[in-house]
Amino acid sequence: VFRIDMLPAQQGDSLWIEYGEASAPHRILIDCGTPPTAKTIVGRIEQLPPEQQRFELLVITHMDTDHIGGALRMLAERPPALKFNDVWFNAWRHLQLKADSTLGPIDGEILSRALDKLGWSWNAAFRGGAVCLPDDGEQLQSCHLPGGLRLTVLSPGRAQLQSLRREWIKVVRQAGLDPDNPVRDSQLLKAAAGKGVSKSILGGGGPDIQYLAGRPFVPDTAVANGSTIALLAEYAGRSILLLGDGFPEVVLGGIRQLLRGRGASKLHVDAVKVAHHGSQHNTSNDLLDVLISSCYLISTNGAIFSHPDDVAMARIVWANRGKGTRLLFNYPKHDTWSGARWSDPRLQDTYHYQTSYGADWGASLVLEP
Ligand SMILES: [Zn+2]
Repeated sequence: VFRIDMLPAQQGDSLWIEYGEASAPHRILIDCGTPPTAKTIVGRIEQLPPEQQRFELLVITHMDTDHIGGALRMLAERPPALKFNDVWFNAWRHLQLKADSTLGPIDGEILSRALDKLGWSWNAAFRGGAVCLPDDGEQLQSCHLPGGLRLTVLSPGRAQLQSLRREWIKVVRQAGLDPDNPVRDSQLLKAAAGKGVSKSILGGGGPDIQYLAGRPFVPDTAVANGSTIALLAEYAGRSILLLGDGFPEVVLGGIRQLLRGRGASKLHVDAVKVAHHGSQHNTSNDLLDVLISSCYLISTNGAIFSHPDDVAMARIVWANRGKGTRLLFNYPKHDTWSGARWSDPRLQDTYHYQTSYGADWGASLVLEP
């Protein structure tokens, strides 16, 4: 089995991936959504027999609260048997390089403390260093997990981590959490408590897909998003591209290097977890041009940022027109959400794609080896 479940993570991401024998699969968890998402995750973990509550890996792609928020609460409320064999998360100590995310670094500091306390492996696959692209001329970082899953790191680059480091210092100082502050500890606990850790509808003739798809690309500049850990997950001949909230130009750099190494011009994958909940600033036509995928996964309920953006969805639909591509959303259709308009049968018919929507528990994609 190779399955990806997009859990209901509100405006965020939480991807539960299983691979291996169906009766006792290996598991990895990529992001934990917003704080309330922890309840769903912990609920699912508790349904596993205790001997299976041991995951190969937890990846926190970056420190925005819609990805890390649920992790803090999950750890606070974790079942006793829960263990992650490694955690991939780039925090302060990984940003010691040569050379608008609100409160992100504070969540990062809280999670850092929690991981230290638990004593779990952390970025162990990278000998404790940052999970990122290599310096020029060096090989992409790639790792084989027990059970045969291969993960290749496609983002972030050193430059994004450097920016993150500057941002991290700024926010952490403002919050009184810098390492030299004698009352740092109580400040951190206070911040954690504050986070609950202690305990356009298709009217008229429909959208002009080609026009929307061709709108000028305005890149995302949010430091935390740029620091996203993006991965290509491969198992038994199947593959999923996991883009977090990453910058398409950074990911594209990683993919181009991968393609050069493999002597290919396009990256064939079975699914793409679309970056940043379908923001138009994180899906470019340049990126879509190198991808061939029969399925695009969109994780968001549209709250706060009204994701997905029409422009991003139009780019995906246009780039894949005529190919029968599937758009898989992790939330049920609801009228006030931009994700719902893509189910219009006339649009699906014209551009030859399909849509599926999630249930209360999210949405699942099973890839047969
Ligand atoms: Zn996000």
